[in-house]
Formats: sequence, C-alpha cells, structure tokens
Amino acid sequence: MPLSTLCLRCGLCCDGTLFTTVAVRPSEVEPLRQRGVPLVERADGSPALAQHCAALEGRHCTVYAERPESCRRYRCHLLSALAEGEVSLDEALGVVDQTHALVDAVARALPPPRPGEPRAVMQRARQAGRAPGTSALSPEAQEARDRADAFLVRHFQGRFGHGG
Ligand code: SF4
Ligand code: SF4
Repeated sequence: MPLSTLCLRCGLCCDGTLFTTVAVRPSEVEPLRQRGVPLVERADGSPALAQHCAALEGRHCTVYAERPESCRRYRCHLLSALAEGEVSLDEALGVVDQTHALVDAVARALPPPRPGEPRAVMQRARQAGRAPGTSALSPEAQEARDRADAFLVRHFQGRFGHGG
C-alpha cells in the first residue's frame, strides 16, 4: 500500500527528526509499559514518548497495533499529499530519500555525540550552543542544519498535530 510504503522508508516522525516527544493518553501508558517502552513526563506532568522513540527499530514501529492515538492520527504534509494524489509514490519516496541525505549531511558536520546527548541528529544540531554544556555549531554544520530544517518544514510540517 503506497502510504505504508512511504512511512516504512521514512520514520522521520518517530526518530526524533520532527518531534522531541509524542503525546500518550493515560489509558495508553500501561500497555506501552508492558511492552517495555519507557515513557517520559512532560513539563505539565503528562506522559509522552521521547523521540527517537524506543519502540522504533530501524524504521518499523514494534508496537504498531498498540501505538498511541496521536501516532495513529498523525499525517505529515507529504503523507497527506500522497493520500490526496497531489504527489506520486515515486515523488514522495524521492523527497524522503533527499531528506535522509540532508540529515546525514548534518550528522557528518557534527562532532560525535557526547554522553547524555540526544540520539537524533537534528535534535543535537538544534540544541548546539543553546543547551548547557553544548558548543556552537561550525558554520558548515549550521548551514547543513538550516538546509535540512527548511526542507523538513516545506515537506513534512503536519496538517494535524502529533500532540508533540
Ligand atoms: S514523517 Fe510522514 S511519511 Fe514519514 S513516517 Fe511520518 S507520517 Fe510517514
Ligand atoms: S509508538 Fe510507534 S508510531 Fe508512535 S512514535 Fe513510537 S515508533 Fe512511532
């Protein structure tokens, strides 16, 4: 099916590239815990999945049948465009491949992650120089980050919230 083909090649809404957390309803907490998926608490005390999601293996959700409602509801701009026939599957897959290449370019321009830093490349790049103990990005890394962020906004910024 074209929609799942696209998402299985992408994973950007689960791997920390687009979101830092994903909302979880109170009733969804226990089933996720039973599957061994750790949860975090947001500033307002509500439960959430930190991204890169612990349930993501490669680009597959390992709790797909029990994934939170906010995961079920979420559709990025690209997926919506594919569902509505505004882009072909080949075009959408091309956008995903280009995005991964842009994020990989950011990864190459960043210093190796320090202990405690996020696994997600774009989160590290966005925090650099802002979060305590992080150094400012090199001009090369800054340019790569800005290029990737602009592409993400253009192609993925969702029409529906992820609660995150
Ligand atoms: S970012 Fe969009 S295309 Fe990629 S996995 Fe999420 S919903 Fe699917
Ligand atoms: S539970 Fe599954 S669908 Fe939801 S963020 Fe995690 S990997 Fe993605």
